[in-house]
Amino acid sequence: MNIALLGPPGAGKGTQAQRICHEFNLAHLSSGDVLRAEKMAGTPQGLRIRDFIDKGMLVPDDLMIQLMLEKILALPGGFVLDGFPRTVPQARALTDLLHDALRPLSLVLNFVVNPRVLSHRFEGRRICPVCLSVYHVDSMPPRVAGVCDNDGHELLIREDDRPEVVRQRIELYQTSTGPLIAYYAQLGILKTIDAGGSVDDVSVVVLDKIRRHFAQS
Ligand code: AMP
Repeated sequence: MNIALLGPPGAGKGTQAQRICHEFNLAHLSSGDVLRAEKMAGTPQGLRIRDFIDKGMLVPDDLMIQLMLEKILALPGGFVLDGFPRTVPQARALTDLLHDALRPLSLVLNFVVNPRVLSHRFEGRRICPVCLSVYHVDSMPPRVAGVCDNDGHELLIREDDRPEVVRQRIELYQTSTGPLIAYYAQLGILKTIDAGGSVDDVSVVVLDKIRRHFAQS
């Protein structure tokens, strides 16, 4: 079972990916986490990546494809991709790779959320700078306010969650990632999720859609 999640920043792909992986025993690979780990490593490549991320721009396709494809191939079994692919060239590279490896994508879930709901989610989002766990001050608060449950580090607002950067990321999503929806619809593996509700409500719908999809195929 290999699944990819599409949706604008703040759609809840990361949170739902964790739940899907837990339910179906899959590996979770988030392109944002891969990039943030590179950025924190401070390598020349990491510094280049930081510039793109902090300005809310997409990392160029060639670098993204090189970084992600080798990580995807190294995954031992079924997986959930979150944040990759984000452009048609990335999707084509992924299709070719998985086709050659006889591990094609079985399902692509497109998370759709009203822009006002997205803004609220960004305002409250916090991240642990060490283990990269994500929280929300209202909908997914840590046990102690402002502190990571896993390692006790102080939670931060992501640099690219600032309102002006968020606006840019959402616009970019519409232009660059929008065409992916048509690409996967044409392959016949796209399903839409209304992801505007609470984490638990969306989760029920997502897990149900996945179960039904695999029961039919
Ligand atoms: P995310 O955590 O998925 O919202 O990603 C954070 C940032 O990483 C994005 O705003 C982009 O700058 C960059 N990024 C993540 N995934 C990709 C991708 N597939 N292609 C290009 N840039 C990406």
